[in-house]
Amino acid sequence: MAIHYHCHHCGTKIGSIDKASIHSESLGLHKLTDQERLEMVAYDSSGDIHITAICEDCQEALERNPEYHQYDFLIH
Ligand SMILES: [Zn+2]
Repeated sequence: MAIHYHCHHCGTKIGSIDKASIHSESLGLHKLTDQERLEMVAYDSSGDIHITAICEDCQEALERNPEYHQYDFLIH
């Protein structure tokens, strides 16, 4: 089982964790509401977990340009 992080805005792969022993609790997923979990966490057919997050580039861009929040995808 692996956990993959992807940027919601630019689609960049932020990173992966390849460990069988990771529980959702250790990722902080239990702190999410059900709605957030539905939006951010996806399981694929091989059992991998895909988490939608935000990469450092987009985080920075959003902080500098808050109006970008209205766009789903940013072009770097
Ligand atoms: Zn990004």
